[in-house]
Amino acid sequence: MVTKNKEYRSTDKHSMKILITGAAGFIGSHLCDFLIKDGHEVIGMDNFITGSPDNLTHLTGNPKFTFILHDVANYIMVPEKVDAILHFASPASPNPSSPYGYPNLPIQTMKAGGLGTLNTLGVARANNARYVLASTSEIYGDPVEHPQKESYWGNVDPIGERSVYDEAKRFAEALTMAYHRYHKINTGIARIFNTYGPRMRLDDGRAVPNFLLQALKKEPLTIYGDGEQTRSFCYVDDLVLGIVKLLYSDEHDPINIGNPEEISIKDLAFTINNLFENPSGVVFLHNKVAGKDPDRRQPDIHRAKTLLHWSPTIDLVTGLKKTIPYFQSRMP
Ligand code: NAD
Ligand code: UDP
Repeated sequence: MVTKNKEYRSTDKHSMKILITGAAGFIGSHLCDFLIKDGHEVIGMDNFITGSPDNLTHLTGNPKFTFILHDVANYIMVPEKVDAILHFASPASPNPSSPYGYPNLPIQTMKAGGLGTLNTLGVARANNARYVLASTSEIYGDPVEHPQKESYWGNVDPIGERSVYDEAKRFAEALTMAYHRYHKINTGIARIFNTYGPRMRLDDGRAVPNFLLQALKKEPLTIYGDGEQTRSFCYVDDLVLGIVKLLYSDEHDPINIGNPEEISIKDLAFTINNLFENPSGVVFLHNKVAGKDPDRRQPDIHRAKTLLHWSPTIDLVTGLKKTIPYFQSRMP
């Protein structure tokens, strides 16, 4: 039977102790909130390389939340038994113009995806815990198959500027499957497509925060290239529900989690300018992108629909309207 998202309750799940790496980040902090509300205890772990303690301030003093300041690339000691691990620690923005973009954090990015995945899988093995890896649509590279199904192997440049992220995540997927096959760990892999919402860093350089910030300042929106490239943007609440459903399942093979509503970057810019009545329009910039900017990206979410009974419910304009107040409140 298909469970409608809004009716979703984890009534069949007993309370778990869950380790979330990347807890001070955009998606990680929303996962902390959701899982605590759903009755679990959360141990958050982060080294703040791209995240911020501000994203967790509201959880200070909450008896269901503890925080460990730690780099996941180093051996991980968790003081108590955990039932589940969500490994979300990694820089995630491809923008070389931002200090938080992974082209400027290349070794840290490979360590988070490589050593961080090894260390968190070790914790999963020691605790016999359910494990969910935050993988990415970037493992498809610049895809020649469209939309992207999980069965597609990808078109990835192994040495380009994006490779530190793409290949680390591909290594992470392979290692996760090795722990599942060899050590029989109950692992899952979420291939996350472009996600946006409150608590994104205003200056992390990704398209949505850049455009919102520029529109708020009534500046022209910076379109990289001709703007014909497409993405499919998922609002964070939808994404979090998909991740949680994967966590509560026993699915092992990768599952795309994203919103299939595909839009060109030019149309995204026009949509945001319309919302703000921004008179400054757009400017087309070249040579701003690290490596090869993927031309098209859209998830095939058939597996998520059938196996997890999940699909997104929040359209782009609704999601942007939910995001704008956060950006307004954080304007420098
Ligand atoms: P984010 O930068 O906001 O969050 C990442 C968090 O990980 C930050 O708090 C950062 O400080 C922490 N971190 C990084 N390296 C670490 C380390 N070595 N030790 C401990 N903490 C570390 O990014 P996000 O958008 O929330 O992404 C979260 C995860 O989801 C990442 O793994 C990313 O690859 C994945 N993902 C995100 C998207 C998206 O569109 N947001 C798409 C695909 C995949
Ligand atoms: N982009 C853009 N202007 C910006 C930031 C990004 O045109 O100011 C483009 C970028 O080149 C890419 C798309 O928007 O084609 C999405 O970029 P983002 O950094 O959000 O993530 P990606 O999907 O590339 O990982």
